[in-house]
Amino acid sequence: MKRILTQLLNLPEVIVESNLQEGQTLILSVSKKAKSAVCLQCGQKSEKLHQNQRYLVKDLPMGDKEVILNVNRRRFKCKKCRKTFSEELDFVGARKRFTHRYAENIVKQLISSNVSNVARNNGLTDEEVNSMLEDVAENVMSIDVSNLKRLGIDEISLVK
Ligand SMILES: [Zn+2]
Repeated sequence: MKRILTQLLNLPEVIVESNLQEGQTLILSVSKKAKSAVCLQCGQKSEKLHQNQRYLVKDLPMGDKEVILNVNRRRFKCKKCRKTFSEELDFVGARKRFTHRYAENIVKQLISSNVSNVARNNGLTDEEVNSMLEDVAENVMSIDVSNLKRLGIDEISLVK
């Protein structure tokens, strides 16, 4: 089951450790596959796990189920710097409550609608939709070509 869910989730280098269903919500506990992370300060690879830090992030739905990821953003200890650091996660922005791909999906809906309608249709607040717009803009700004291709011209001009 975990392997199937990992495949269905389809986030690169991410594995589903356990799952829980509550009504219409599927909660997936996930973490990165790698047993190590690279220190941002010095580039040293560390395998010394310091702490597990979990938080909830909204992801794309599966079927008729809302999906919430219980993300483990692990802290490692760097031998060289003697400091702890959090690993990088490429599917969710820092302190964001939704994945990049969830934000992209919401922003795409803005093409043929407006913030208030999209917010209402997805059970979100206007602020949340605006925050997702910012998230997508930041991703595009970081010149990730795959993102640019995925988004298409209309959405890029919309984001500006
Ligand atoms: Zn270091």
